[in-house]
Amino acid sequence: MNRFTYTRADDVASAVREITADGSAKFIAGGTNLIDLMKENVERPHRLIDISRLALNEINSAGGGGLRLGALVRNSDVAYNKEIERRYPLLSKAILAGASPQLRNMATVGGNLMQRTRCCYFYDAATPCNKREPETSCSAITGFNRSHAILGTSEHCIATHPSDMCVALAALEAVVRVTGPSGDRAINFAEFHRLSGDTPNIDTNLRADEIITGVDLPAKGFPEHYSYLKIRDRASYAFALVSVAAALEMDGDTITGARLALGGVAHKPWRDPQAETLLNGQRATRENFQRVADSLLRDAKGYGHNSFKIELGKRAVVRGLSKAAFGGGQS
Ligand SMILES: Cc1cc2nc3c(=O)[nH]c(=O)nc-3n(C[C@H](O)[C@H](O)[C@H](O)COP(=O)(O)OP(=O)(O)OC[C@H]3O[C@@H](n4cnc5c(N)ncnc54)[C@H](O)[C@@H]3O)c2cc1C
Ligand code: SF4
Repeated sequence: MNRFTYTRADDVASAVREITADGSAKFIAGGTNLIDLMKENVERPHRLIDISRLALNEINSAGGGGLRLGALVRNSDVAYNKEIERRYPLLSKAILAGASPQLRNMATVGGNLMQRTRCCYFYDAATPCNKREPETSCSAITGFNRSHAILGTSEHCIATHPSDMCVALAALEAVVRVTGPSGDRAINFAEFHRLSGDTPNIDTNLRADEIITGVDLPAKGFPEHYSYLKIRDRASYAFALVSVAAALEMDGDTITGARLALGGVAHKPWRDPQAETLLNGQRATRENFQRVADSLLRDAKGYGHNSFKIELGKRAVVRGLSKAAFGGGQS
């Protein structure tokens, strides 16, 4: 049993003050990931700062015609919000593809962004893991790595980011709002999560003394041509082996704008704007989708058990784009 103290923050300023004062403290929101990690002895905070009652639980209009999701809005409340369903159905579908209704009722926007990898060695404190304990080595590279990354990996860690919601937020080019001791700042979604590099213990560019206050969705939500495709071992309650968030703008059968983000393949939601531009001005055909898929996965590297993901990823991209072009939603 690791002893810890528990306090509840009344407002954002006191939450920031408390985390700044104690480097070993952790925020707790829905608790669906942090408590599991504490039970497994992976996270050992000396103090929990409960932020679940902060006034960050609303969805409001944001500048430029977009929407702001408060960091404490529950995942279910985002997914079933009428404006989200109408304007950002990609986000709604991605959230509903994740976890279970009970978990989504507890999980928050901020907690979803900050959830940690599901690498089995990370959860097993008896095995070496550079993410859990830097410079001990990575058990997955030569171990059981079926669910692991194929893009942007390093010799230090091949873990994936497990979120579905974040894959949609990457495609929508959301912006993360954070507050720290020196004030507020905004982080573009593409820069929020990090690749593992030689510091796999650091998942994001959020500083240790900062809190996420919200996520801004730009006005463009791609409600007409979108798809969130999640390939997994079971139809529900399983993390993605590969997922694809596809969002298109079309004029007839010609693509005038494209966004693609992949989940389950990298340490962060994977975007490649260079591959996306291959679709601009092109007709929505299987051949054109295949070219983008080949380009997106051109540098993919398998580690044995997960090598199947390279071909699976390409097929998922083609299917996700076809769904977005001709029949939206999730499959
Ligand atoms: C069995 C199971 C299956 C799951 N399946 C899926 C799935 O298929 N797809 C999927 O996407 N997710 C899945 N999840 C993960 C789930 O979505 C996350 O556990 C959840 O989103 C975390 O949110 P939370 O509010 O409970 O976070 P918490 O557990 O409270 O916190 C998680 C981390 O975020 C930090 N944090 C929380 N809020 C903030 C904030 N505002 N600012 C800064 N730091 C913060 C905490 O300090 C902690 O480190 C699953 C979880 C479980 C247990
Ligand atoms: S892949 Fe990353 S999280 Fe998994 S064992 Fe290796 S270092 Fe740890």
